[in-house]
Amino acid sequence: MITTVTATRSPHDETGNPPDSAAANTADHTIDKARSIPSLLFHILPFGVFFTGIKNTDLAIFAILYLSRIFFITGFYHRYFSHRSYKMNRIATFAAGFLGTTCVQKGPLWWAAHHRDHHRCSDTENDVHSPIQGFWWSHMGWILAKNTKKTDYDKVKDWARYPELVWLNKYFIVAPILLGIAVFFIGGPSALLFGFFGSTVAVWHATFFINSLAHILGTRRFATDDTSRNFFPLALLTLGEGWHNNHHHLPYSMKSGLYWWEIDITYRVLQVLSWVRIVKHPHMPRPALIASQRIDQGAFDAGTCRVNCTKARLLLSAAVEQNLNESQRITERAFRTIDKDLLALRENLDKLSLQKTDVSSPEPPHETQPQKPARSKSRFQN
Ligand SMILES: [Zn+2]
Ligand SMILES: [Zn+2]
Repeated sequence: MITTVTATRSPHDETGNPPDSAAANTADHTIDKARSIPSLLFHILPFGVFFTGIKNTDLAIFAILYLSRIFFITGFYHRYFSHRSYKMNRIATFAAGFLGTTCVQKGPLWWAAHHRDHHRCSDTENDVHSPIQGFWWSHMGWILAKNTKKTDYDKVKDWARYPELVWLNKYFIVAPILLGIAVFFIGGPSALLFGFFGSTVAVWHATFFINSLAHILGTRRFATDDTSRNFFPLALLTLGEGWHNNHHHLPYSMKSGLYWWEIDITYRVLQVLSWVRIVKHPHMPRPALIASQRIDQGAFDAGTCRVNCTKARLLLSAAVEQNLNESQRITERAFRTIDKDLLALRENLDKLSLQKTDVSSPEPPHETQPQKPARSKSRFQN
């Protein structure tokens, strides 16, 4: 059975929360240094192939692990756990979650909770990885931040009622360790370094580009209230997720590529899984929705307008703050100068007062004798 998507953006998310409640505190950009160390190691380790050399097996492992794990993220973590664009039974759901954890992008519930936040607050100050907070932050910074560490189970109540998924979310590191060991036994150290660590980093950045580049580069077909864009190279790299503007317009659709030329491998694989009844009840977009809110047909691009206004407001706030800081600096400098002058004035007045005392009264004051008039003196002399 195919379900048609009937709403472009629900005012209430899957958990029933209205958009305003998605108050992810993104103001604090403090990076968690302890959590950043493993990420840094993953980026450095693939360079170990300069010492071990690289074999064809390593390249093959890299390609297999890249393509399969990109699908685990796009097909399972994104389209299933975050958007529920189709249904699976409980065993298949656990298997999908387990496969997703091999991507080392934390557990499925953590991923879905944060992604649902993104759709609720796209490109606002509450967006967990909004590009208006800078490319680095939207690409990777938010993942390493202290305030995004925990899973907000209230935002994934629909999944949190399954204990096996909560366990998987907590012990997400089990599958990557098992995969790393397996790769080592198959291809040795170079396969581990390049095939496993290298492809993991490649999967990371391909995924992260959707949060950063897909809101900056590309074209907009639908007037969504965000800056999402369609970008063909990114769609190839991420097996279909690059049709990000289509996705923001139809978030609950199982397919993001809406026309034959919009290659969407993730959708094709899910389609195959539906033929063997693993994937059921796919949500497909209604033609009326595909034809609605088209910018090329005159729909007002409120998303771009709002984001431009937000950027302008941020710039103005920064300028006002800078001016206030400058004014404060000038005022403080003026006060310091006045204080210095007042001190110098007081010291000079004290000195003057002392000099006056020296000149006018070297001895204690006494009664002054009346002076004889000059005329009397002259008379006496005469
Ligand atoms: Zn987005
Ligand atoms: Zn999404």
